[in-house]
Amino acid sequence: SDTLYLRVRVGRVVDDLYAIYLKDMSDQRRFETMRRDFVTNVSHELKTPAGAIALLAETITDAADDPDAVRYFSGRVAKESSRLTELVRRLIDLQKAQSMEGVVDMKPVHVMDVVRDAIGENQPQADARHIDIRLTLNGSNAPLESAGAADGDESDIIVMADAESLKTAVKNLVENAIHYSPEHTVVAVGVARKDGKVTIRVVDQGIGIPAESLGRVFERFYRVDPARSRETGGSGLGLAITKHCVQECGGTISVWSREGEGSTFTIELPSPPPDESQPADDSQDA
Ligand code: ADP
Repeated sequence: SDTLYLRVRVGRVVDDLYAIYLKDMSDQRRFETMRRDFVTNVSHELKTPAGAIALLAETITDAADDPDAVRYFSGRVAKESSRLTELVRRLIDLQKAQSMEGVVDMKPVHVMDVVRDAIGENQPQADARHIDIRLTLNGSNAPLESAGAADGDESDIIVMADAESLKTAVKNLVENAIHYSPEHTVVAVGVARKDGKVTIRVVDQGIGIPAESLGRVFERFYRVDPARSRETGGSGLGLAITKHCVQECGGTISVWSREGEGSTFTIELPSPPPDESQPADDSQDA
């Protein structure tokens, strides 16, 4: 863990130098560097668990006559391989999100349906951690304090979006909210329409994000605490994918957070006037 600490420290210094260096470069060169960094990052991220698995396999062979050790190291192998699988899954998501650029399927979408789907996919993880996910429609600005009922008329909460992308975005936010919160807390999802905009807000009572990291969480591979994130299988790609999906839908995403208090991620999407935007697909009218 000493070497890890050192790596993080060195990493930060390099990050700082890199930031200064970037300022001096033209956009074109910056893009080239980002692309190269991305490839380097991917190889590094894939090599780490792959290397760990190889080492662990050797260790298991050496410890063949110690059942406890075999069990322990096998568990580690399982953990590292699920990390690898998760990483590949995320990379495929990111690749998909990027290659879809320009060919997104923009249609009028019932926001509440998409949000309910996204929550549904996270329900098992929430249940396992005794986290209560509450969905509120047109609630107060502080969804954590409202009753959690989805009241109001949701038929005009419609945006022009790619339903799949929007679902991925909300799903990732809820997944993180659960992931970075202690057990027995509340994750509030608030949907509201105001001034021609629809906002989707995901609020948690989790560990929060340090102020100096807030500006970076949407970067690919950025993790506030790599050691902690790694332990729980984080890839640092979730929010990069989320941002991409939101932008594809013509929206923006922002974050507010305070360490030890929790985080709020807000997606904002332009919403056309109700009469121009009746969903073509009536299977969505549930
Ligand atoms: P990861 O797979 O590591 O969760 P993300 O891109 O989804 O990657 O998030 C980047 C980093 O931002 C995470 O490693 C974590 O440190 C921080 N983060 C994201 N969402 C939250 C949240 N709801 N609460 C606290 N920290 C968060």
